[in-house]
Amino acid sequence: MNNPFFELGIRHDIVNAITELGFENPTPIQEQSIPVLLTGSNDFVGLAQTGTGKTAAFGLPLLELLDFEENYPQALVLCPTRELCLQIANDLKNYSKNMNNVNVVAVYGGASISDQLRQIKRGVQIVVATPGRMLDIINRKAIDFSQVQFVVLDEADEMLNMGFQEDIDSILSTTPEDKKTWLFSATMPSEVRRISKKYMTDPYELTMGAKNTGNANIEHEYYIVRARDKYAAFKRIVDFNPEIFGIVFCRTKIETQEIAEALIKDGYNADSLHGDLSQQQRDKVMKRYRERSLQLLIATDVAARGIDVNDVTHVINYSLPDEIENYTHRSGRTARAGKTGVSISIIHGKEIHKIRQIEKVIGKRFIKAEIPTGFDVCEKQLFGLIHKVHNVEVDEQQIEQYIPRIMDEFADLSKEDLIKRFASIEFNSFLAYYKDAPDLNAPEDTRAASRDGGERFPRTGNRSDFTRLFINLGSVDGFTRGDLLGYFCNQTGISGRTIGKIDIKGVYSFLEVANDDTDKAFASFKEAEYKGRQVRIEISADGGDNRGSFGGGYKKRDGGGRRDGNSNRGNERNGGGSFRDFSGKRREDRTERRKRY
Ligand code: AMP
Repeated sequence: MNNPFFELGIRHDIVNAITELGFENPTPIQEQSIPVLLTGSNDFVGLAQTGTGKTAAFGLPLLELLDFEENYPQALVLCPTRELCLQIANDLKNYSKNMNNVNVVAVYGGASISDQLRQIKRGVQIVVATPGRMLDIINRKAIDFSQVQFVVLDEADEMLNMGFQEDIDSILSTTPEDKKTWLFSATMPSEVRRISKKYMTDPYELTMGAKNTGNANIEHEYYIVRARDKYAAFKRIVDFNPEIFGIVFCRTKIETQEIAEALIKDGYNADSLHGDLSQQQRDKVMKRYRERSLQLLIATDVAARGIDVNDVTHVINYSLPDEIENYTHRSGRTARAGKTGVSISIIHGKEIHKIRQIEKVIGKRFIKAEIPTGFDVCEKQLFGLIHKVHNVEVDEQQIEQYIPRIMDEFADLSKEDLIKRFASIEFNSFLAYYKDAPDLNAPEDTRAASRDGGERFPRTGNRSDFTRLFINLGSVDGFTRGDLLGYFCNQTGISGRTIGKIDIKGVYSFLEVANDDTDKAFASFKEAEYKGRQVRIEISADGGDNRGSFGGGYKKRDGGGRRDGNSNRGNERNGGGSFRDFSGKRREDRTERRKRY
């Protein structure tokens, strides 16, 4: 039988390579764009979500069209993030592994420029680049784009979001007038429309699905909860989906950290990804997520750009994004490569109008879902466990030697007793946790919403239940919040579950303990030392960052601490471009995003 990729015009050695990657049939965007792009004579605009096979849609035609006997840059692919850049370069190398002399170079920030310059010098036909570093290399006169025939602008909307417009202009001005430009974008805000007009003549336009719509394989759900129940509701949703492999979106760095820490403390495999991480830390988190050592990745919009992990089952909007466009980007992280996925939004009753606006933009209805009851969760977990028992692979050889002793140990138990006990090992903790669990669903009622107080963060119970303690250890002693939590709990024997908010400052920190545990905390720190230094704890008098009457000398430092705390709460918003917010207003918002990457 003829391989459908042959029929699209792709040659054998490439088809063989992609067959090894598991590409049996072209995805819809590949089917429709490859024949057009293979002519090499059109500008092109493709509106498609991430994960739909865009890379091969432009990558395979590029491999067909370029002259690999020559060693000068013939194609330039610009994309918004380092991750995507590496992914595209890697994909192109994989597609061309049976071809001779194909040289692809990935050019991106945050890595050694000299390596990249060396690779360029050796000869390259396809450059895949993020705009900032590309411009840097152009300014060093280290590359000659005068013979570029094709420019691909991948995830154009993201590049504009990130404020790369000027860089793109400068880069493209070094390429020939008669090159062909292929633009791919998940959404078509007017900014993208404008650049397509600016850089292209009469482009061939391909829209997969309606404009700006999300992927048809994504189901959109929303849950309405009271602000103070948000974290508990979120956990319930996670517990109700034992096989979840999800990305949880928050609006701020602080929120991602708080949620991730709370989840880790509660025994989940989670970590956070945000703009303050170094590239190395970021790579580490992503590696763990890809390898599935992490089940939940808690991320900001900016940090999650370019995440190309397949098989993400759920996207959870812990907070709705500021811009509607970002909802499409977030939900596009699931249901990649023809799979299905769920995009969940946990909202407050007064946010329902935002859901209605998103529905209009993506052209799809949301399903209103109910937070499962404690009973539902326990039932789901129990049968999840039973399912696992059914499916577990038994290593007969290894287990064989233990069987007689195991049988002996269980000789006094009936089969029914045994099943009950095995099932209870994991199930008990859920039963205990969800015993008397309240209904967390809130009405879609703005009056109820406004009566509902502020959001209670995971560790920030009712403030009056906590005593805020000062401790003379902080970040200069190498403490993160997790470290301090561990240290404090070890020292006092107080359960981490009962600790409230933790604020790490420079030479000191604050942490909230349940009122009933205060005496225990003081007793435990009576003669405590840390690295030869006496550790002191004191009660912070006003419950805020000012410690008031307990040692006025600290007052000054507290004032400074407060400012730090606030600045840390900076909102990681979209930089560059102007976007519609939920109020329908245009917002000019050129912030610092590019600095972070
Ligand atoms: P992309 O949108 O290019 O990032 O592709 C998303 C995922 O789909 C990647 O893991 C690709 O390897 C995979 N993929 C792309 N095209 C095909 C295809 N025709 N058949 C199967 N998988 C594909």
